[in-house]
Amino acid sequence: MNPNPTADAARLAFLLGELRLPTIKYLWPDIAVQSDKNGWPAARFLTALAEHEVADRERRRIERHLLDAHLPIGKSLDNFDFNAVPVISKAHITALATGNAWIETGANCLVFGPPGVGKSHLAAAIGRALIEAGYRVLFTRTTDLVQRLQIARQQLTLEAAITKLDRYHLIILDDISYVTKDQAETSVLFELISRRYEHRSILITANQAFGEWNKIFPDQAMTLAAVDRLVHHATILEMNVESYRRRTAIERKKATGGPNTRQSPKASS
Ligand code: ADP
Ligand code: MG
Repeated sequence: MNPNPTADAARLAFLLGELRLPTIKYLWPDIAVQSDKNGWPAARFLTALAEHEVADRERRRIERHLLDAHLPIGKSLDNFDFNAVPVISKAHITALATGNAWIETGANCLVFGPPGVGKSHLAAAIGRALIEAGYRVLFTRTTDLVQRLQIARQQLTLEAAITKLDRYHLIILDDISYVTKDQAETSVLFELISRRYEHRSILITANQAFGEWNKIFPDQAMTLAAVDRLVHHATILEMNVESYRRRTAIERKKATGGPNTRQSPKASS
């Protein structure tokens, strides 16, 4: 067969497409030039191509998982000011953000504190770090997920919907305290908690400590059972500090010389 570089290149592009190797398809001509120039043996050339494909595949996977997680944008550990919450240890959060111990065993994390102290920010930042570490995460307002599960129950597909959520190593239920039992059938939330118990992790943020959770579940027995499962293997973070939102607003006003120092009322918790 006579060598025909143009035909080979066209055929190769087609074959790499069929094999779903987009990075090699895109990069091979440049790397081939480099390889020829440096006299690389074939194994070196092929390894370089394969490494690029694997690295890109990992990047694409993380991008896909970040999109699928619905994290609030711009909330990371890098832009979380730990000085504002001295009760929280940066080392502890960094350890949580690597996953390993708690995510692998399906343990939970419960984050309590009044509004504006950074609960959602911290939860989203941990979620982002976990995705970058290779885990799957879903961030959702608890009310949204409860609504979705209620619809699934009406359509008799609750079991399947909860099973589908198993693909997430961690579900972040933001603002559980906004769920109230008058929103009908909050027992779906209990079913989710039971299903994930000792199997898949949940991170919950809440303005109210357990004492108030009777408003969430249909009856006290279910509240107790839910709390019991959640805390059995859990890290509890209490962020009882001043609202970051309010503090920065006051500081901004001071910096711009506006009227400012009126004492804000204490946040209700
Ligand atoms: P919560 O969920 O407790 O009500 P948020 O996480 O929504 O509070 O925080 C309110 C706002 O203040 C957000 O814009 C968040 O990014 C910011 N914020 C809160 N705490 C911090 C912090 N320690 N460092 C940086 N930004 C923070
Ligand atoms: Mg919040």
